[in-house]
Amino acid sequence: MHAAAEAWLRAAAARIHDEAPRLTALDQQIGDGDHGINMDRGFSAIVAMLDGREAVPDGDDPWAPLADLLRTSGRTLISTVGGASGPLYGSAFMKAAGALAAGPGSGAEGLVAALDAATARIGELGKSTTGEKTMLDALVPATAAARAALEAGGDGAAVAAAAAEAARDGVAATVPMLATKGRASYLGERSIGHQDPGATSAAILLEVLATTLANRE
Ligand code: ADP
Ligand code: MG
Repeated sequence: MHAAAEAWLRAAAARIHDEAPRLTALDQQIGDGDHGINMDRGFSAIVAMLDGREAVPDGDDPWAPLADLLRTSGRTLISTVGGASGPLYGSAFMKAAGALAAGPGSGAEGLVAALDAATARIGELGKSTTGEKTMLDALVPATAAARAALEAGGDGAAVAAAAAEAARDGVAATVPMLATKGRASYLGERSIGHQDPGATSAAILLEVLATTLANRE
């Protein structure tokens, strides 16, 4: 579980690095043009943290190392990313860690619990909800789809695949939305017609998770 999460974080960092110019270009349309730079900085710092970490010993609780990994990653994002996305993603990772520390029954259940806690935390911290052209427009439908896949008997890979697909649709749905939260809201009506950068990065993270879990099973 812990090894899969580490593989996800490393693959996500590589993908975010490749996608940074596109994320920044999206943020140039409706923000201040730093989302790709912010995400790349944060995930590069996570990789540096992983490289410097001591090997995690196997303990009695299979969830504890995973929760610790996500908590440390969340702290890393908060301390290295200046933009709104750093505290939002960072706190989300820390809440996901808390959900896993509670000891879910299976990997698939853990994934849904983690996504649920992460998404709720972003809404709470950002005082935001769906339809406001933010990362929540990818994450809320992704969480709902993940839960539906779990209830249909899906394993971790199936749950992640469902989440990734719903997130992709959620990103497309941000284009016609009027931004009412974050910097994009300063543009008012001019925010309409552009894809939200944070929803895009959230969908990338879930797509990499789905690929990582599919390749491990
Ligand atoms: P900043 O806006 O400070 O420059 P980034 O460019 O890194 O930070 O991130 C912008 C993204 O953060 C937006 O595209 C949006 O998805 C997300 N975001 C901003 N404010 C909020 C909020 N209140 N709730 C949820 N997501 C938000
Ligand atoms: Mg920005």
